[in-house]
Formats: sequence, C-alpha cells, structure tokens
Amino acid sequence: MLVAGNWKSNKSFNESMEFANAFAKLDAAPEGVEVMIAPPAPYLAAMGATSLPFRLGSQNVSATGPGAQTGEFTADMLAGCGVQDVIVGHSERRDGHGDDDETVAEKVNRVLEAGLRVVFCCGESLQDRQADVHFDKVLRQLESGILHLPAAAMDRVVVAYEPIWAIGTGLTATAEQAQEMHAAIRGWLAEGYDAEVARAIPLLYGGSCKPANADELFACADVDGGLIGGASLDPENFQAVVAAAGRAVAAEASNA
Ligand code: PEP
Repeated sequence: MLVAGNWKSNKSFNESMEFANAFAKLDAAPEGVEVMIAPPAPYLAAMGATSLPFRLGSQNVSATGPGAQTGEFTADMLAGCGVQDVIVGHSERRDGHGDDDETVAEKVNRVLEAGLRVVFCCGESLQDRQADVHFDKVLRQLESGILHLPAAAMDRVVVAYEPIWAIGTGLTATAEQAQEMHAAIRGWLAEGYDAEVARAIPLLYGGSCKPANADELFACADVDGGLIGGASLDPENFQAVVAAAGRAVAAEASNA
C-alpha cells in the first residue's frame, strides 16, 4: 500500500518543516505501507536535505531536459534534490496548466529516465461519468500516457485513479465505483503488458479520501492506497489515513 499526500499550493516553508517534525513523532508507517508527501516545489531541496519520515514527491516536472526553459525544473534536478516520486497528469494540471496527453507522456518519460518513480494520474469528469464514457476516458488517458513504456519500466509506475468530480469537493467515489474502475485499469494493464505487471502496479484512489472513508476504500481488492489532497495537510489526519492502509494490509494478510 502507498499513501501519498499532495499538498498542492498550500503551506509556508516553516509549516512544511513543522509538519515533517510532527509527523515523525506519530506512529511509524505500519508494515507494508509506504508514505509519500509532495510539498510545493520551492521547498523540495531543503526538505530533501533533511531526514524525512516519508518519501519525498514532486507535484510536477518539466516535459523537457535542461536548457533555455525559463521557470521549468527537470527530472534530474528533482532527483538531485532528493525527490523519489513525481506526480504527473494531475487533473489540476491537465485542466488548468496545459498538460495535454502528449505533454503528460513526455513528463512520464523524463521522470523514468531520471530514475524516479512516476505517480500517473487519470480520471473522468462528471460529464464523462454522466455520459457513461468514464471507462473509455480513463483507459484512453492510460493508453496515451504509459502504454508506450516497456514492461521493464513498469516497476516504477504507480497509477492514481482520481475522478475529477471527487477532488476537493467532499464527494467521494463509492467503494464500488472505485473498485470497478480499478479492476478495469488492472485488466487493461494485464492486456497491454501481462498479469504479473498488472498485479504489481500500485493503483491508488484519489478524491476526498480521508480518515472517515479510507478503511472502506482501502478494503477494495484493487485499491492499493490513496492519493490524498485535503486530508494530507494535517499530520494527525494524514496519519489516520496511513493507519487505515495498515489495517487493510493486515486484513489482507490474515485472509491470505
Ligand atoms: C488530489 O488533489 O489529488 C486529491 C485527491 O485531493 P482531495 O483529497 O482534496 O480530494
């Protein structure tokens, strides 16, 4: 299980460091649970130079390499700052910051070339779901974003299914809605690659996941963790989501 926090454009630098200190004092991540936080980009180098109680993630990366690209930061620069994971294709970047399918695919390539792990986001809008094209939409995003990758690269790919209508809205996909989309993604991966690759790729759910609903979502057979926005901003709240992932791991082990 992987529980990943996306702070978006929230928190001052001091608040970020305070979070890391407070989080380190809480229960350590349960066995079988990885924890990642993606703070705002300006804090990455300083945070990466300290000992953190979580993996360090970036919310974005340049689609290009080094050169005359004012304001961009490359995947190699992120790696040099101690970043381990990079979120690519978040709906807030696809919709508001020009990350079209081609750009997203380029960003995926840059992240993997730099030796980092990519957290590839996909998800449908409310209109897509109402028009009953949500499966097509998500599978098309996966096709254009990751299907070009060789199977050997897939051990550094995480997929986050994030229905856009559930992000930051307080609306959450039901466990059934999350499970059926995750099963479709797993099936698509098995067809495009093979059953082993499909089984090994962590599939995260994102969209108003919080302590009150994390147990139910993480209990789904094909949900391997969460990408958490609002509920990752407070150490205790985030730790409660991490603890829910620990319970899911323990339940799975006892059922095996
Ligand atoms: C997100 O931004 O990826 C997200 C899931 O946000 P929230 O948890 O606030 O819905």
